[in-house]
Amino acid sequence: MAKPIILTVDDDAQVLRAVERDLKRRYAREYRVLRAESGESALDTLGKLKLRGDPVALFLVDQRMPKMTGVEFLEEAIGMFPDAKRALLTAYSDTEAAIRAINEVGLDYYLQKPWDPPEQNLYPNLDEMLDDWRANYRPPFEGIRIVGDRWSPASHRTRDFLARNRVPHKWLDVEASEEARRLIENVDHGVPKLPLVVYEDGTYAEAPENREIAERIGLRTQAEQQFYDLVIVGGGPSGLAAAVYGASEGLSTVLVEREAPGGQAGTSSRIENYLGFPRGLSGGDLARRAVDQAVRFGVEILTPQEVRGVRVEDPYRIVTLTDGLEISCYALIVTTGVSYRRLAVPGAERLTGAGVYYGAAQTEAYACEGEDVYIVGGANSAGQAAMFFSNQVRRVAMLCRGDDLRKSMSEYLVTQIEDKDNIEVRLNTNVVAVEGEEHLESISVKNGATGETETAPASSLFIFIGAAPKTDWLDGVVECDERGFILSGPDLSKNGKRTKGWRLNRDPFLLETNVPGVFVAGDVRHGSIKRCASAVGEGSIAVQFVHQYMREV
Ligand SMILES: Cc1cc2nc3c(=O)[nH]c(=O)nc-3n(C[C@H](O)[C@H](O)[C@H](O)COP(=O)(O)OP(=O)(O)OC[C@H]3O[C@@H](n4cnc5c(N)ncnc54)[C@H](O)[C@@H]3O)c2cc1C
Repeated sequence: MAKPIILTVDDDAQVLRAVERDLKRRYAREYRVLRAESGESALDTLGKLKLRGDPVALFLVDQRMPKMTGVEFLEEAIGMFPDAKRALLTAYSDTEAAIRAINEVGLDYYLQKPWDPPEQNLYPNLDEMLDDWRANYRPPFEGIRIVGDRWSPASHRTRDFLARNRVPHKWLDVEASEEARRLIENVDHGVPKLPLVVYEDGTYAEAPENREIAERIGLRTQAEQQFYDLVIVGGGPSGLAAAVYGASEGLSTVLVEREAPGGQAGTSSRIENYLGFPRGLSGGDLARRAVDQAVRFGVEILTPQEVRGVRVEDPYRIVTLTDGLEISCYALIVTTGVSYRRLAVPGAERLTGAGVYYGAAQTEAYACEGEDVYIVGGANSAGQAAMFFSNQVRRVAMLCRGDDLRKSMSEYLVTQIEDKDNIEVRLNTNVVAVEGEEHLESISVKNGATGETETAPASSLFIFIGAAPKTDWLDGVVECDERGFILSGPDLSKNGKRTKGWRLNRDPFLLETNVPGVFVAGDVRHGSIKRCASAVGEGSIAVQFVHQYMREV
């Protein structure tokens, strides 16, 4: 593949030379650094690059140029290279224009002149942008191919698994793709069970389990050791934060994740309220950054792997995995979050994965291009999905039980939704049935205010109706409330009395459960605030209590 390009534009020859020099010093091995002394000549160069099919990774452009400002240049340039990252060189007085440009041209970063030393003021931000670009850039395809039926739950599971674990893959619809037909003809007996997963080296597997794929592509599902200082169950924001803090503070740490690191946040198309990311970031990006950080500190991440049980043999806490293997530790942090609540209407269970989906917005979005989709739910997660889909599909209908979106959704999202012509919000609306033979064909909805029921054709229904914890595997060991959320710290005492069976002279630490050394953090904790930042905060705080606990063992 040709090296991706970094293009820098500045009318001041001296500044241009300095930027070019600093860029080459750091990036010349992996990128081609090009320069232009005006917006016009840069656009000329871009036209040629486009024709040749060369990828552009980053624009670094001065805002103050006499004929065409940096923002004006970016407006034109992103039409040709919409995926390229955008950074603006500014003087202090351009700050307002730069902040406006975050909305106008999706500016990723603005940098003030002078940027010396570049190691501090230039490279860290450009490194991040280029990492993001690389993570999302799809070069001519060389990875895993999946041949499947768009409406098959098994194909959906495989695709969703690879997408959420950020394994590059290409989806080939058996009904629509010539390449799919060619691959099927090459299978020995010519009638493979779908999905057919074709690996890079040309070997293939018919309808493989996710675990089988994971092992084949080198995801780790088995622990290297039998004993760790700290085991974390669940790889959402809370578990990943606990892992980063645990390992960075010297604890041997393993994290066990059932599906894919990122948890619920990993399924979010855009998280806009996470501190430090003024443009928001996708859950996928947040998860990728957190996983990189955890691995860098030496965390072992096992995925897909599920914890099925826990028992105590003092001073050890022992977890049992799906395949019966066990891992022991001194301290355990449970960060298993919550899972989507299922839609309890006739037909929903049978059609899950075949037109009815829980959350899986990003995996299916491209298949729904140009179609109409329905979203059930009125909270932020449903709103984010509606916004995300509105850029891909013809029309989004949001079906909300309540009578006012503002009662359940953040104001900024309500405003964004109101500004979208192709999102229709239907209030007082309950889904009462979903119908279809092989896949979803229609839905029936009832208006709670008028009592009227109507049936409409539908092919895709995405459900975001809240979530519940799944903590049955802790039954009999760790105390939960009546809804399954785990009790900890002060919530364990009743009328000033310590929880039954607590035998230590101290009270349970803030995030400690009724079992000393077993902690809980994030959405699965009784009384938690269901947000990324709070999950991350709790995950990191829990590690402090792990240290205190370990002084006792
Ligand atoms: C679509 C969507 C959009 C959202 N948008 C925002 C937003 O914009 N801003 C915001 O602040 N919050 C947002 N949230 C909420 C936020 O994502 C959650 O509060 C946060 O992810 C909670 O983190 P957690 O680590 O506690 O749990 P989770 O994210 O739920 O992660 C728990 C993990 O544990 C794993 N697990 C469960 N049981 C087991 C087991 N037995 N063994 C192994 N692994 C197990 C699960 O597979 C999962 O990966 C959104 C949520 C959703 C669903």
